[in-house]
Amino acid sequence: MALVPFDDRDGWIWLDGEFVAWREAKLHVLSHGLHYASGVFEGERAYGGHIFRLREHTERLIASGRILGFEIPFSAEQIDDACKAVVAKNGLTDAYVRPIAWRGAEQLSVSAQQTKIHLAIATWAWPNLFGDNRMKGVRLGWAKWKRPHPETAPTASKAAGLYMIGTLSKHEAEAAGFDDALMLDWKGDLSEATGANVFLAIDGELHTPTPVNFLDGITRRTVMALAKKRQIKVVERTIPQSDLSRATEVFLAGTAAEVTPVRQVGELHFTPAQITETLLKDYEALVRMPPEQVAAQLGA
Ligand code: PMP
Repeated sequence: MALVPFDDRDGWIWLDGEFVAWREAKLHVLSHGLHYASGVFEGERAYGGHIFRLREHTERLIASGRILGFEIPFSAEQIDDACKAVVAKNGLTDAYVRPIAWRGAEQLSVSAQQTKIHLAIATWAWPNLFGDNRMKGVRLGWAKWKRPHPETAPTASKAAGLYMIGTLSKHEAEAAGFDDALMLDWKGDLSEATGANVFLAIDGELHTPTPVNFLDGITRRTVMALAKKRQIKVVERTIPQSDLSRATEVFLAGTAAEVTPVRQVGELHFTPAQITETLLKDYEALVRMPPEQVAAQLGA
């Protein structure tokens, strides 16, 4: 399928408080965000016209900016409304939503205290890549790059700069014929994939690494709540790489990835089975519920 470039599409992008024709939503090449990665973003999905767990995403966006030392000049209510409006304005009901905030071009040096903070929100159709074949599972290679210690990088922020090693790892995995890469942390323990968290089924329990140096995903927390509702024991812990051989099932969880079964990690093979299928289906059902019902289901 031909790739339609992201700067050459029809539609509307919300930029600093107003709708701008898609092709006109531009920034200057001397923007601080481009040179020094002073940007934070979100990835959200709308299902049936509702953005799943929108407020959590908006709050994380604001918190990510604060971790990078800036305040997004819009309230959570304004950002929520803008996200909903951009989906509607583009005539979409099922879509991916991408808010991004960055430092502008007023100053271009490491210090950038006087830069204006911009916010853009775009949306596009992005169906689940695996469709009906999803239960077959994806293949992951091991990343050479390690997730950094939380004192080495602002790992709790969904900061653009943290994706540098993600893109490098994913490209290397794809070049080797895999779908994605599984990353270890600086100690050599399991961390996450390049854009999703990881879960293992071990002895009928669900194990997942403690999010000390990577994003505590909204999907991750949702899946943990769904597992508990199913009386599946959830164990958050440091998971040594060698524990992967004890797993009977492996899956990824993330807004874009949703629940994605894994059939291979490096030399190890897995067969996605009951735990993965149950949680995949529970997640699919939950995301399609109206927001009040989602909150009730999750006990929020
Ligand atoms: N880790 C990384 C690196 C990600 O990019 C994402 C996707 N935002 C996640 C984990 C999962 O986060 P969420 O479930 O909140 O989308």
